[in-house]
Amino acid sequence: MTVMTNVKLEQFPYSEAAKKALARKPQLFIDGEWVDSTGGATLEVIDPSSGKVVSHFVDATNDDVDRAVAAARRAFDDGRWSDLPPMVREGMLHKLADILAAHADELAELEAIDNGKPKGMAAAIDVPGAIGMIHYMAGWASKLGGAEQIEPSATPRGLFHSYVRREPIGVAAQIVPWNFPLLMAVLKIAPALTAGCTVVLKPAEQTSLTALRLADLIQQSGIPNGVVNIITGNGHTAGDRLVRHPDVDKVAFTGSTEVGKIINKTATDSLKRVTLELGGKSPVIVLPDVDPKVAGPGTAQAIFFNSGQVCVAGSRLYAHKSVFDSVLENFVEASSFWQPRASLDPAGHMGPLVSDEQFNRVMGYIEQGKKAGASVAVGGDAPASEGGYYVNPTVLVDVKPEMSVVREEIFGPVVVAQRFDDLDEVARQANDTRFGLAAGIWTNNLSAMHKLAGKLKAGTVWGNCHSMIDPALPFGGYKESGLGREQGREGVEAYTELKSVIIAL
Ligand code: NAP
Ligand code: MG
Repeated sequence: MTVMTNVKLEQFPYSEAAKKALARKPQLFIDGEWVDSTGGATLEVIDPSSGKVVSHFVDATNDDVDRAVAAARRAFDDGRWSDLPPMVREGMLHKLADILAAHADELAELEAIDNGKPKGMAAAIDVPGAIGMIHYMAGWASKLGGAEQIEPSATPRGLFHSYVRREPIGVAAQIVPWNFPLLMAVLKIAPALTAGCTVVLKPAEQTSLTALRLADLIQQSGIPNGVVNIITGNGHTAGDRLVRHPDVDKVAFTGSTEVGKIINKTATDSLKRVTLELGGKSPVIVLPDVDPKVAGPGTAQAIFFNSGQVCVAGSRLYAHKSVFDSVLENFVEASSFWQPRASLDPAGHMGPLVSDEQFNRVMGYIEQGKKAGASVAVGGDAPASEGGYYVNPTVLVDVKPEMSVVREEIFGPVVVAQRFDDLDEVARQANDTRFGLAAGIWTNNLSAMHKLAGKLKAGTVWGNCHSMIDPALPFGGYKESGLGREQGREGVEAYTELKSVIIAL
């Protein structure tokens, strides 16, 4: 069944604030100032709703990367940030969050223009999420604690005084993807600053606009020069240079598992500390007791939110065989809510995909699935549009575990729906993947909920909800979905080293 082709994809005008941001001269934010690149190369900003080029930004050279790292190194080594009273650092971070809040509408619009997500979604989720993340992380600056006394265990009491200091790691290189550009940038910067580190951040080449605006706002926050440096450019050049740089102490990356593995190998040469938040193929399990009218729209949201371009997207649906047909029917019905529209269309819930490349990748997977024998329950095609990278919400059924649409991260609005018989079987199916980022369980049966939550190999398990991410809760992946945890206390501690001090008395 295909219900949503030939949707009228109207384009909407940009605001004056957005036009101003798009008209800015391509520059880099290094040592608290806007500076020209040492090279002349630029990259294009493309609005995925129209496919049109709307601005340009710097493609940083090796020299630019080196300058940014040198600025972060100086800012760390002279203690202008880490030696400040923690409450002062905390205050500056709260101020930054307040400045973001004052620019919320503009930031949401820029995110919509750059990434293609509906402005309403960016305004409801990305921007408040980023603001909340800064407020939450700021609090740790004064709560993390510095030193803890621990009595030695092997010597008589009173002969030694020993304690453990918690210190910032140093300079952090942070590389983020295009699916939640501002939120990801802040999710990286905030815990690093809280811990006392300094930062060089590289946004994804598809989405640099909000990171550049964030630099302007950091300038206004009182955070000293050089503490946050933001450079734009290509991953395989500027990103790679950052990861290899001898003056970088820690690398934090969010993106594809493929690039994550390269980064991990490169960073290992100099034993840099590494945090990786990578891909997923998250299962969503519907048990027989749930009302299909609740499970249908709930599990549709789990995949179609942000056009399925979410690392935790619920891209494998498992419904118990006794309710499979009714869940599927309600899911397909709910798909019309996610009909793609231009990102500035106030009626939109789902926008286009981020790029031509991503469009071709997703359509390629759908074709592979069809060729391998999958049937299309809804979607499976692109709506007619003049430019733009729209894909209709798609449900594939009659799939087999070995198909690429079941095994690989598609990162688009595509779900594969399968049946199961009992809890052990579905736990096995759900875990039959190289990924382990997240999972969803829909049931009111408490015992089954907790049993399954224990069995699933995933960093986050949701019950009767999905994509519910909170700054206080550690986030990260099992298996090839990542290394380490972000957010919560663990997320700040990941930017620190422990030092034991033992003094003979
Ligand atoms: P990606 O290549 O992993 O990009 C993520 C970031 O890493 C970008 O800033 C990228 O720079 C940079 N990068 C790329 N190669 C690098 C290298 N060798 N060294 C250092 N940095 C490097 O992701 P993508 O190409 O944009 O998307 C491809 C697929 O990745 C998607 O289809 C999806 O399956 C997955 N993905 C997952 C997530 C997630 O949250 N888990 C997010 C985005 C994408 P550029 O700006 O030049 O690309
Ligand atoms: Mg890339």
